Amino acid sequence: MGEGTIIVKELDSGFKYRVTEEPGGEHLMRCYACGTCTASCPVRAIEESFNPRKIIRMTILGMKDEVLNSDFVWLCSTCYACQERCPQDVVITELMNALKNIAVKEGIVHPGIASQAQEILKFGRVYEIDDFANKKREKLGLPSLKSDSKEVETIFKSTGIDKYIAKLEEEK
Ligand code: SF4
Ligand code: SF4
Repeated sequence: MGEGTIIVKELDSGFKYRVTEEPGGEHLMRCYACGTCTASCPVRAIEESFNPRKIIRMTILGMKDEVLNSDFVWLCSTCYACQERCPQDVVITELMNALKNIAVKEGIVHPGIASQAQEILKFGRVYEIDDFANKKREKLGLPSLKSDSKEVETIFKSTGIDKYIAKLEEEK
């Protein structure tokens, strides 16, 4: 059996239905594999392993573990180029978000995203506001800012994101 051969009994036939129930995944089954999305995708232009049509096919086939554990969905830059062009209105960008949401519910978070969340928890934004930034703001007549993460902490706790950050710390 060749590498990458699909084993039918290992497929999850219910996966596509779960995706169609997730906001953004509703039009998944409309895809007729024309490839317009892949041809439009700027991420695909620089990273050959990224292929929205393939991800959609894999999802419909029931390759749940491969889809949720791959870097594919996390590489999407949410540029909407594919979504604007899809002749079947698959709303691909939202579909990628639906797959990310399912991955997170299954406890799978890309380390890059978890690191960003870690920074946001620390500073209240993705980078620290330091004196240099505030001096620049002052010159522009803007009020100074401080790194404050109290509200973020509340949001992270209520959504459970704090657990993923803790998991990342453990894996370090
Ligand atoms: S453009 Fe739409 S119909 Fe064509 S492969 Fe992509 S998702 Fe499927
Ligand atoms: S939204 Fe994502 S999948 Fe679609 S073209 Fe942009 S990067 Fe590619």
